[in-house]
Amino acid sequence: MKKAILLTALIFSLCYTLYASAAEYDTIKVGLYYDSTAKASVTVTSDSGLSYGVYENGVHTELGTIEGTSATIAVSGDNELSINGAEPINIASSNLSISPIDGTIRLDGTQYRGCILLTNASGGTMTVINALSTDYYLYGVIASEMPSGWHTEALKAQAICARGYAVSNYNKHASLGFNVCATTNCQVYKGVAAETASTIEAVDATEGEVLTHDGSIAQSLFYSSSGGHTANAENVWGSYISYLSGVEDPYESEDSPRHTWTATLSLSQIEAALSERDINIGSVTELIPSTDETGRVYELTVKGTDGDHTFTRQNTYIPFSSYGVISQKYSISPLNVSTSALYALTSGRKQEISGYNVISSGGVKSTVASGFTMLSSSGRSIHQSGKITGYTFNGGGWGHGVGMSQYGAKGMAENGFTYEEILDHYFPGTELGSMYGE
Ligand SMILES: [Zn+2]
Repeated sequence: MKKAILLTALIFSLCYTLYASAAEYDTIKVGLYYDSTAKASVTVTSDSGLSYGVYENGVHTELGTIEGTSATIAVSGDNELSINGAEPINIASSNLSISPIDGTIRLDGTQYRGCILLTNASGGTMTVINALSTDYYLYGVIASEMPSGWHTEALKAQAICARGYAVSNYNKHASLGFNVCATTNCQVYKGVAAETASTIEAVDATEGEVLTHDGSIAQSLFYSSSGGHTANAENVWGSYISYLSGVEDPYESEDSPRHTWTATLSLSQIEAALSERDINIGSVTELIPSTDETGRVYELTVKGTDGDHTFTRQNTYIPFSSYGVISQKYSISPLNVSTSALYALTSGRKQEISGYNVISSGGVKSTVASGFTMLSSSGRSIHQSGKITGYTFNGGGWGHGVGMSQYGAKGMAENGFTYEEILDHYFPGTELGSMYGE
């Protein structure tokens, strides 16, 4: 058997100190296939031809060219890959990079800028990565996050948020050998097919720009819709961040999808949501929400026949999201409270008491109606609230609510605000800076 070529041995013979000055965030590695989606083989093509080599510090260092315009790379053993069935290449401490000689490259038919990296060959599969300029990556991200037909100032604000996300999460998937993934876990990225003229323009017009706070890159978070007021980060995730405090969102149109919403949950659906999380408090009897000044619920106590459970922060809605509760911004009203009469037993005779006046031991007179508390002779509090069969959630907004509302940004742009003004509104106290530093 032929000995595998050691790419690392080759690379050390090359002078690559030239690239050490490359800006840290200038390029990005996007994981396309890994873990359960890792591939046994892929086919890459480019009309301009292909070269293979090693990708280090944002640069493809060519070690040779591939005959023709197509290459199939397959796992031939642990840490070993072969190109078009040729002798295996050892990637134990490196990667295999395939670059087009010019232009773009296709991976199993999908077009990408930059080059394709193959790493972590083990158990018959390998991790497949697209390595490219960070702004080229953003070309393929923006239109998946915001409709490309929206106002250019909204698209520019989105470009800066997306760039900030990529830079802030640069080490998120480091253990897998790349920076960000291509799904909603990070940001949806579909390569060249997702690029549009307006989103490319938004990326180019804001080249390298990110939001900063106190000299560091800020967390430029975004979501679909606020329902009229954005959220306090500490009431969503637990940590206070000054520029992620809730602000009014007056330009988010009331016509925006999910600016308001309604969800109706039966008690048994609420019980099902609890049991999905292994919370057992018997039959649910009552929900008690606590709301902050942004109109968002930060605590939701669920009372049951065998105990109570209190959800906090984003868990006041996520457990119920499959039933249509899509943000923390909601109020609740009970369903089907019994309006039937209330009775007392006197000398064995049933007598209706609802509507009658009672006088407490303190002398306070009140009328008996649906929903009252009384004390038994042993001092036990008895709450009569009629029969609740479920709750209606009257809500607003979609998503976590922290940072920029995309529909709000759209409204601001259409009302003449610039992207700088939009970002200043949603991230008060931040400044625009460059991801390349000073
Ligand atoms: Zn991810």
